[in-house]
Amino acid sequence: MPKLRKCAYCKKEVKLTREHIWPSCLITRMPELQVNYLKNNRLFTAGDLVIADVCAACNNIKLSPLDAYFCSLYDGYFKTYKEDLTPFKFEYDYNLLLRSLLKITYNSSRTVNREYNDFEKYREFILTGNGIHQEILIKLDIVQPAMVKGKKFYPSSARCGEIQIGGPTPNFLLRLIAVNSFYFYIVISKSAVLRSDMEEEFNRIFDNLQGTIIHPYKQGVIVDTFSDVDTLNSHGDFLASTQELYFEYVAKKKR
Ligand SMILES: [Zn+2]
Repeated sequence: MPKLRKCAYCKKEVKLTREHIWPSCLITRMPELQVNYLKNNRLFTAGDLVIADVCAACNNIKLSPLDAYFCSLYDGYFKTYKEDLTPFKFEYDYNLLLRSLLKITYNSSRTVNREYNDFEKYREFILTGNGIHQEILIKLDIVQPAMVKGKKFYPSSARCGEIQIGGPTPNFLLRLIAVNSFYFYIVISKSAVLRSDMEEEFNRIFDNLQGTIIHPYKQGVIVDTFSDVDTLNSHGDFLASTQELYFEYVAKKKR
């Protein structure tokens, strides 16, 4: 009999199933996600990222509404690239949005670190949506296509990972979840309340991360701040350097 392991969400020892890092409905919509970019190796590999530590009940019943919600945002917003600086209204359900972003973050972080995982404490909230998390801030930045050497590169990717700003950030966790032009930054205070000795650090983070605050008690915000030229250039370099590799990879596959 196969050894039973604990579900990463409900902690029950039951038979575990494959769980995609990104919602499978997103993978259907973005076939390019079938190709992963391994930063350390500068390599693309086929196959979407999967972890195998979630039980069927969590996967199919509790977590699937979050995937459906995230994919509805894809259909309503993410699939359209923002090509100019026209402000627009982003409507959301804060509870579902936050849980979707935390789920993707928790899933991807487990591929790196299963024990002492910083996001494990959110598994109940991800499953049930109960509770308020004032220690978390979401900012939404919009990244436009970049012109590099006369060629236009679209930010066509889904990325999730740690982010670094200038200087150390010992009291906060900083994450990026990006789909196409939509870059969600989540800032999580490690302590439940913002202590006065954390203010300098918080202000530095807040100033460094561009974008519009996704207000927890509203259902929509006007997005009117966009990445500045410097940010665009750095994204542009990333897009240009990775897309050349991507096209090489696709060309090789076709041969
Ligand atoms: Zn479970």
